[in-house]
Amino acid sequence: MQLVVQKYGGTSVGSPERIKSVAARIARARADGVDLVVVVSAMGHTTDELVCLAGKVSANPPHREMDMLLTAGERISMALLSMALHDAGVPAVSFTGSQTGIITDSSHRAARIKRILGDRVRAALGDKKVAIVAGFQGVSETREITTLGRGGSDTTAVALAAALGAVRCEIYTDVDGVFSADPRVVPEAVRLDRVPHALMAELAVLGAGVLHPRCVELAKSRGVELRVLGSLSDDAGTVIVPEGDVMEDFFVTAVTADKGKTLITVELERATAHAALWSVAAAAHLAVVAPAFAGGVVRFYADKDAEWKRLLGGLVTDGFAKRFTIDDGVAPVSVVGSRFAQDGGALLSVMEALGEAGIQVEQGVASPHAITVGVAAGRVDDAVRVLHKKMVGAVK
Ligand code: ADP
Ligand code: ASP
Ligand code: MG
Repeated sequence: MQLVVQKYGGTSVGSPERIKSVAARIARARADGVDLVVVVSAMGHTTDELVCLAGKVSANPPHREMDMLLTAGERISMALLSMALHDAGVPAVSFTGSQTGIITDSSHRAARIKRILGDRVRAALGDKKVAIVAGFQGVSETREITTLGRGGSDTTAVALAAALGAVRCEIYTDVDGVFSADPRVVPEAVRLDRVPHALMAELAVLGAGVLHPRCVELAKSRGVELRVLGSLSDDAGTVIVPEGDVMEDFFVTAVTADKGKTLITVELERATAHAALWSVAAAAHLAVVAPAFAGGVVRFYADKDAEWKRLLGGLVTDGFAKRFTIDDGVAPVSVVGSRFAQDGGALLSVMEALGEAGIQVEQGVASPHAITVGVAAGRVDDAVRVLHKKMVGAVK
């Protein structure tokens, strides 16, 4: 039988009723004659609540203990979904990341999957059971529990689909697919039927939280068919396709923003200090978005993470940097599409749209696939709306 990996996000399993409706969807898919591995996220805001709880007992919780804590969230939803399936007459069994044999490196909070053993999942499928796997977690070679980073359950799902040879990976979420902008910010945003890997990866990195960036890269490199679908509808969703599947007429695909990011400026002591900066960021697995360099000054967008202050402070103490600023008042807004490199037309439209709305532009960078600009944090949604209005669907 063909194997399908499905993943259900936090809102989709956010209440007992939602869990029962996911169980009913799984039962229907099984009745259609496929084997199923189901990856689940923690219910609703459980992970955020656990992060908040940790902050109440410690100003600087050890990363190892954070992973021990946060993995509990997915353990709750996997067990509840398995129970709901039993109740619906569907045999099922749940596994943690470690029971599944999701072997990662040892970087707590940002672990990378090295390989998946998957023997217990295969045995469960052999016994005609639905295998439910806790998302976002794994185990290191030294048997430490790890997590893949926030939103990482999507990557668990795609990695499992690759390791088990699934025919496709279906990511079920609280919207009906990938849209031309976050439909919660731009109600007139349209669902995109197909998005090429490269543009989806840009969108994900630049803040469209609907897919974890690493899952897009994995789907591309391992040839996994990836779909994004609504857990509350029967809509066709969005397929992430290889580049060759889209023709030249693609222009602006979507507008996105990332309010979770901050603008960091570092003034380096000398050009050779670049290595010191990027090695601390890489060692801590901290994402760096849209970096720009001018003389000894480096500016980039990064997650609001207390780790940055500590690391950059260390660079100043060690004589690599003169000073740095972390500006929470600016967030990146991006237009993602193709053929931006042909002329200044796309840049002109971005600047016109923002100028007409009186939105001032900070630190920006452009590539053939994306134009990113910083805007005042309070104007982010306005910027997304005006850019969407002016640019989306502008097929040239
Ligand atoms: P899940 O818990 O299912 O993983 P997420 O919250 O991680 O769900 O991702 C889904 C959310 O992503 C949507 O509710 C939507 O608000 C947001 N989103 C941001 N940009 C987009 C986009 N371009 N298309 C669809 N959803 C988007
Ligand atoms: N529960 C984790 C988070 O909230 C992982 C996920 O949802 O993918 O980040
Ligand atoms: Mg998600």
